[in-house]
Amino acid sequence: MTFDDFDLDPDLMDGLDTMGYKTPTPIQQQAIPIILDNKDLIACAQTGTGKTAAYVLPLLDKILHTEQGAVNTLILAPTRELAQQIDQQVEGLAYYLGISSIPVYGGGDGNTWEQQKRALKQGVDILIATPGRLIAHLASGAIKLDGVKHLVLDEADRMLDMGFFEDIIKIVGYLPKDRQTVMFSATMPPKIRSLAKTILNEPEEVSIAISKPAEGILQQAYLVNDEHKVDLVKHILKHGNYSSIIIFASTKEHVKKLHKELKRGGMNVKAFHSDLEQVEREDILREFKSRQLPVIVGTDVLSRGIDVEGIDLVMNYDVPPDPEDYVHRIGRTARAASTGTAITFINGKDQRKFAQIEMLTTQEVTKLANPEGIPAGPEYHPVIRKKRSGGGHHKGQWKGHKHKGDKKH
Ligand code: AMP
Repeated sequence: MTFDDFDLDPDLMDGLDTMGYKTPTPIQQQAIPIILDNKDLIACAQTGTGKTAAYVLPLLDKILHTEQGAVNTLILAPTRELAQQIDQQVEGLAYYLGISSIPVYGGGDGNTWEQQKRALKQGVDILIATPGRLIAHLASGAIKLDGVKHLVLDEADRMLDMGFFEDIIKIVGYLPKDRQTVMFSATMPPKIRSLAKTILNEPEEVSIAISKPAEGILQQAYLVNDEHKVDLVKHILKHGNYSSIIIFASTKEHVKKLHKELKRGGMNVKAFHSDLEQVEREDILREFKSRQLPVIVGTDVLSRGIDVEGIDLVMNYDVPPDPEDYVHRIGRTARAASTGTAITFINGKDQRKFAQIEMLTTQEVTKLANPEGIPAGPEYHPVIRKKRSGGGHHKGQWKGHKHKGDKKH
């Protein structure tokens, strides 16, 4: 299948060319015809699968063929990073189309708010927003959404995890009933199903490989106690042949500590976490993208939405608390069919968490022998808690399997 099969506008095909997309990814193959056909859609797809273009492409084609003026398409996203990322893809694909878009997200100063307000007043075809900030603009009367024809919820599961359910329902209340609604989610827990029931109309459903890291990622792990993790990071950075590296840690404190240690060792590294101002975060990402900065140490704030080509190593300084976060973190490497390495440090305490990840992804990760001078942590003998009968799942556990076998929906 090629992009020609969708019969898209020639100017849009030129945009595809500019972006360098040659063949549609599986989610694009499945989702684009449904969206073009004006149907509601619920799609299970993670970042890294090409999900953004899967809805942006058909919607751009539609906008081209409708009268422009009011906000035509509203895209809701959980974080400002994702909102910016989506906006970049829209801008790239719409390069020859004369279709306008703006991202609207929280944070920033009074100026940002005013800029957003002015832009909204001027009118825009595609509005990409985080729910909280959009509600604020709606409340201030800066924007009307009664001309919206298409609503997209991107990373819907993340939005619900972040407590945006009420906000989403409120926003939907501002939209015309007669619209197309498209929902993308990396997982399909029951609360996503019930949101879908509330705001979608007889949706088609597509699903591609649930919670599986991309094929191109080489996954490895070391068994190591906390006190030796810094040395192991240094060893890998020194001896591995990596040039663009993200190291995730589960807490701000770990991020700050590791950042300090690596900096003290003379490394060009920056820390990325929620204490930073928006401009600082953007500066770091810009430096990283342009290859001036080889290493970022960050919390999971960094794991969604950052879309940088050519990251060749993702390290998990701690095992992420939720298996889905593992998939998201390591999805930062091997974007769209390139290759990359993901290395996870497992201490004794995290073994069970890691075993859950292996179970969710149905992939056993190679445990490497520690380099000389770095003592091995406890042997890998995870004790897995058995699935309890009568529901009551541990957060994040069995999600993938549950969905697959869930016949009720
Ligand atoms: P996403 O899953 O939307 O975060 O996209 C992951 C990455 O794949 C982004 O860097 C996109 O620019 C890229 N991408 C999306 N569709 C294609 C395609 N058909 N061919 C090549 N790269 C793509």
